[in-house]
Amino acid sequence: MMLSLHRNVNEQMQLPITDVKGIGEETASLLHDMGIYNVMNLLEYFPYRYEDYEMKPLTEVKHEERVTVEGQVHSMPVVQFFGKKKSKLTCRVLVDKYLITVTCFNRPYLKTKLTLGETVVVTGKWDQHRQMITASELTIGPYKTQKDIEPIYSVKGKMTVKGMRRFIGLALQQHGGRIEEFLPVAFLSQYKLLSRSEAIYYIHNPKSQAHLKQARRRLVYEEFLLFQLKMQALRKVQRESAIGIAKTIDEDLLRAFVQALPFPLTGAQSRVVSEMMKDLTSPYRMNRLLQGDVGSGKTVVAAIGLYASVLAGYQGALMVPTEILAEQHFESLVSLFEPFNVKVELLTSSVKGARRRDILARLQDGEVNILVGTHALIQDEVNFKRLGFVITDEQHRFGVAQRRVLREKGEHADVLFMTATPIPRTLAITAFGEMDVSIIDEMPAGRKKIETYWAKETMLERVLDFVEKELAKGRQAYVICPLIEESEKLDVQNAIDVHSMLTFHFQNKYNVGLMHGRLSAAEKEEVMKEFSRNEVQLLVSTTVVEVGVNVPNATMMVIYDAERFGLSQLHQLRGRVGRGSEQSYCILLADPKSEVGKERMRIMTETNDGFVLSEKDLELRGPGDFFGSKQSGLPVFKIADMVHDYRALETARADAARLVDEDAFWKEEEYKVLREYLHASGVFQGEKLD
Ligand code: ADP
Ligand code: MG
Repeated sequence: MMLSLHRNVNEQMQLPITDVKGIGEETASLLHDMGIYNVMNLLEYFPYRYEDYEMKPLTEVKHEERVTVEGQVHSMPVVQFFGKKKSKLTCRVLVDKYLITVTCFNRPYLKTKLTLGETVVVTGKWDQHRQMITASELTIGPYKTQKDIEPIYSVKGKMTVKGMRRFIGLALQQHGGRIEEFLPVAFLSQYKLLSRSEAIYYIHNPKSQAHLKQARRRLVYEEFLLFQLKMQALRKVQRESAIGIAKTIDEDLLRAFVQALPFPLTGAQSRVVSEMMKDLTSPYRMNRLLQGDVGSGKTVVAAIGLYASVLAGYQGALMVPTEILAEQHFESLVSLFEPFNVKVELLTSSVKGARRRDILARLQDGEVNILVGTHALIQDEVNFKRLGFVITDEQHRFGVAQRRVLREKGEHADVLFMTATPIPRTLAITAFGEMDVSIIDEMPAGRKKIETYWAKETMLERVLDFVEKELAKGRQAYVICPLIEESEKLDVQNAIDVHSMLTFHFQNKYNVGLMHGRLSAAEKEEVMKEFSRNEVQLLVSTTVVEVGVNVPNATMMVIYDAERFGLSQLHQLRGRVGRGSEQSYCILLADPKSEVGKERMRIMTETNDGFVLSEKDLELRGPGDFFGSKQSGLPVFKIADMVHDYRALETARADAARLVDEDAFWKEEEYKVLREYLHASGVFQGEKLD
């Protein structure tokens, strides 16, 4: 949430709301319940939508749209009563050349007031099929222009929208003149923005849509700029004050390691490696986000970084969200590091007793160079001797707090957050705005596009024939089970059902394995091992298989009820295949009802590009749902919308980045208010930002 500016900027505006004449204690307490304590809070309580009373010809109005029309009463109104209080008034009204029906609920007294031929103005929802308006407003007399657009506020308790309009009106009248500008004048003229006081006035009292747009534009820019200033200042502070360790790395040894890899790095991997090296060797502390699509080869980049850190005499940690993923990373790191005399250990909640004690002791002694694990890594008992580099994979699954704890395990440790969920730029610069970002935007050579098809569930037989053909070639397949929201239990049941169906279908030919969240870690591991050794050819699974699992011989994936998954999640799932050199396939079984659902299936069949999909996902689902969890780290904006206002966001970010780098910003009078804002926001105190 944004810090209110009034605290430091506009002292008069801190006046309690009871200082507005016309707001008494009773009203004040209603307003308090809505989080409104002072005059500025009230003025910054923006409408969430508007009622538009601008007249439009009926021919331009769509079915179910709200409309305001003027017409003449053409039939005597009829009133029907339902019980004591409820009634419906119906009459015919001539609007231009059209005779329409107007109904109006619970205002029976209008019957005696309406006379034939009289002019009325009606606002309500247009039913095109029945040529009828269900009126929320019906006034006698010709259309008056003064209330074209009415603000609608969200209210709580006994407060009403009309009340809010009145109280905000009073506050504007009595205190509106004191709203101070705090954007530099140069910005106002460059972007042709309204002043702050104008914008606030017009956002509550727009005279036209164009007008409203101007007011909104100003306030959106302001909100983004303040937010980005905070982010950019934080980034600067972290860079300059958080002393990192300038690691000394023997480049020849590091090069030898890279050359010993089974493949040459892609251009993108090399670029990211050098970005990472620059951070590691610099006295600043690394705070970097690494984005790379599934299969783009992040693990090896992580390994190079960890090795570099070990060469410099520091321990490294790799934290991942699931045990399976931890085990896989562990295995690949062990095989990469074996020839280089680097000691890697695995720590998860399944590692217990003497073994655990042993690992912890050797970690503290510095004998263990690299520790891989789940969130078990951030428990109190885990102590490193000299932790210098921390990497988290799939970091968006960790909460902000967990990330911080991990970082604090080492003194001044460099931190790299890796994610395979390509995060749309608008979200990345909002949720991770204070970080540096590296992107692996290139796939290792020779990767084939995963052919993706969309099939109706009635085509299951044919789909299974297709699967069988692949299995006959010696390949393996995943079958991802229907996802039932909020119910792991039902997901599991589904997986069990599909598993028994397929076991029957492929009996005496292929082995079918089953994987779901209710299995113990050991059971999961066993199933995964059987699958990776090709003892099981077909793996039925819930989405637990989503992250990181690597079985290159699996070339086929069938996803049940694909319409229930978000695009990014489908893409993640699909990334389990296409890991070898053979052509891979993904079949989406789906009968989406909505257009959006169909659109999603189409997009999946058309592109393999995670960034394209993530942008689409954001567009179709909105920012709130994008990360699929509360811990998204996304701020709540009062008026701005990250998706629709992304251009303003980009502009504000660039402006903020430029400002914090300029000496003038930290010295000159015209930026004083913004500086005060930053100070008040806690950026310089190392406070957690919300
Ligand atoms: P992700 O980015 O999804 O974590 P991984 O690191 O698991 O991807 O890499 C996917 C696969 O690609 C692995 O089998 C890995 O060995 C392989 N790989 C990584 N980099 C390259 C490369 N430069 N050339 C060829 N194969 C590579
Ligand atoms: Mg990975």
